[in-house]
Amino acid sequence: MNAADLTAWIRRAAELVTADAERLTALDAAIGDGDHGHNLARGLTAAADALAELPADASPQQVLSTAGRVLVSKTGGASGALYGMALRRAGTALKVDEIDARWLGAALREALAGIRNLGKAEEGDKTMVDAFAKAVAAYDAARHRGTDLAGAARAAASAAEEGAQATVPMQARKGRASYLGPRSIGHLDPGAASTALIFRALADVTGGEG
Ligand code: ADP
Ligand code: MG
Repeated sequence: MNAADLTAWIRRAAELVTADAERLTALDAAIGDGDHGHNLARGLTAAADALAELPADASPQQVLSTAGRVLVSKTGGASGALYGMALRRAGTALKVDEIDARWLGAALREALAGIRNLGKAEEGDKTMVDAFAKAVAAYDAARHRGTDLAGAARAAASAAEEGAQATVPMQARKGRASYLGPRSIGHLDPGAASTALIFRALADVTGGEG
């Protein structure tokens, strides 16, 4: 993986979130304020557009820090700040031009740490952390089994989707949905759903299928 692949990842994430914006916004309407899908689609599309303007020799670090900065300013809301932090922290962790499976793992762990540090959510709080943490754990487990980058990304995407689905019976303890208390139970968390799409996009651009 290199800077161009990271740019392709953001572009693919923008496509998937845009295609699913209505569903994500409906999920947020049920337990939040109904802005998640459209805000994130706008933010990711703006990030992808900004990356298209970067010089051809931009580094992975520049790609992710640019994407993170644009995402924060164009998405808004809790998720814009959290995903923006994740991208910038991942960018800071990437000190090489050619990203192998180990470097990608380090970047993903750093992204998760950024989300946890800013949002203070634990697994089980019904947030994007439930999908993100499962994805990172599955990525690391796959890599330790000797799986290549594409296979590990595919494992991460499946785990993110499972982690998102697992938020349905949870009661929200962080973010806007927590204001609903027990009435947040029985709904899929919108941020966990978008995290699953972002990991699906990673699997797509690294050659993973299924
Ligand atoms: P807002 O609530 O500001 O409208 P969004 O609708 O963009 O934000 O995003 C809502 C999502 O953000 C939630 O579904 C949840 O996954 C995530 N989220 C909210 N607060 C936190 C937090 N403190 N830590 C982690 N994720 C959070
Ligand atoms: Mg919202």
